[in-house]
Order: sequence, then structure tokens, then C-alpha cells
Amino acid sequence: MLKVLKFGGSSLADAHQFAKVKSIVDADPARRVVIVSAPGKRFSGDHKITDLLYLCAAHIKYGVSCEDIFAMIRDRYNEIIAECGLKLSLDKEFDELWSKMQSGISKDELASRGEYFSARLMSEFLGFEFLDAALWVKFKFDGSVDRDASYAALRAAAEGRRVVIPGFYGIMPNDTIKTFSRGGSDITGAIVARAAGADEYENWTDVSGFMIADPRIVPGAKSISIITYRELRELSYMGATVLHEDAIFPVKKAGIPIHIKNTNAPEDDGTR
Ligand code: ASP
Repeated sequence: MLKVLKFGGSSLADAHQFAKVKSIVDADPARRVVIVSAPGKRFSGDHKITDLLYLCAAHIKYGVSCEDIFAMIRDRYNEIIAECGLKLSLDKEFDELWSKMQSGISKDELASRGEYFSARLMSEFLGFEFLDAALWVKFKFDGSVDRDASYAALRAAAEGRRVVIPGFYGIMPNDTIKTFSRGGSDITGAIVARAAGADEYENWTDVSGFMIADPRIVPGAKSISIITYRELRELSYMGATVLHEDAIFPVKKAGIPIHIKNTNAPEDDGTR
């Protein structure tokens, strides 16, 4: 039995959320492959790491200093490192990233670092190996994923191992980093689930599955326990933000069930 898990940004927002992820992963030995987003908001009004990275990219583009924003990003990770009692230090890599930002870095590469650092921390925290998405999520020149090449490369790299993989990005044929559209870690998770032949793709978020209506508009809206791939894709396409619409195709084709679960209420059934 193999379960592939993807955790969204709110599930990784701080050390407290990291601890929830660990207890979810530790609770089931089938949970051997974990995909992570970049840390999201801790409270309303807080910033997502990815938004801050895009903000840095915009500052660089217009020649304005982003030192303060970069310091905020660095502090977020260092806080998680300290509070989770991790031994690794990202100082050298942050220094290198900062100098690359001075000399020229693509927007995609900069944005991808949110997931990259998140996965580095999570792999140490879980005691899993870190597997960089740049080694196996392969894009074609037209920007679409080279599925066969990616599936084969992932299988070769991850078979039989317990790994943490950063979501959201991969590599172009010319070795530059490319990101998916926003929310794209869901797609990475689906590609991994398909490539690894998972029995289930667990997508961990901050709601207990798909609901029959937007709970902010209809309080107490019930969640849907089972939904077809087609209905799910339609809802995602129409604006339900639970799952990226492109995350359905890879698992649908192989008949791998998607299970949407709530990191903050793991006992809830969620949506299959
Ligand atoms: N971190 C990226 C974003 O904010 C990708 C993701 O979370 O799936 O869009």
C-alpha cells in the first residue's frame, strides 16, 4: 500500500502546522511520499512565502531593494527551524540566493525556492530523504509536462524510498527552472501519485473536503463525501479553490482515488 500526500501552504505555515503534518505522516506507514507547498498564511493579513518571493521578483525588475522582504522570508524559515528543533542551516543557501538575485535570477526560479526550502525542512523533520523536483519534473519546450519522461525519472529516483518532494516546479530542457501556475503543487502531487502507482493521492488542505456550497456564504454547508473526477474538475474549473483543475487528469487516467483531507481536523472523512 502506497499513499502519496500533498500538503498545502496553510498546512506548513509554521512549526505548529509542521508538527501536525508529522503526526499525520507518522500515523500510517503507507504514507511514504510527501509533496509540500511553500509556507502559507499563519493568520489573516499574513503573507504567503510565494507572494513575498514574487514581490521580490517585482522589486528586482524595477531596480528597487527587496532586502526587507527577503529578510522576512528568511526569518519565517529560521523560525520553523528553531521551533521544530532542526539541525540544518539554510544560511549559506540564502546567502547564495541573495547574490544570485543581485546578478540576475528568473522569476520562476525565485518563486520555486518557497517549495524548495519548505521541502528541505520537512525532509529533516520527518526523517525522509529530500528529492528535488528539478531532477525529475521535466517540461517540454512548449511548457507542457513531458509525462513519460517525468514518470520514468521519478520512478528511478524514488522507488522504495521515503521522500519529501517540493511541489510547484520542474526543469526545462535547457536546465532552467519553470513553475506551474499558482496552486500548482497539486499538479506535482498528482504526477507523483501517477508515476509511483499510488493506491491513493491524499491532498491535505485546511477544509474538510469539497462542500455543497461556499461555507463563507452558506454557513454550515455540508461536505461531499464522494464526487466523480468529472464533477471535481468542473467545480475546480468553476472556481472552487480546493484543488488545482489540472491535478485531476494524471490520477484519473490511472484510476487513483484523490482523498481531500483537513490537516487541522484529520479525523474528518473529507472528500473522495
Ligand atoms: N506556493 C505556490 C502558490 O502559492 C504553489 C502551491 O502552493 O501549490 O501558488
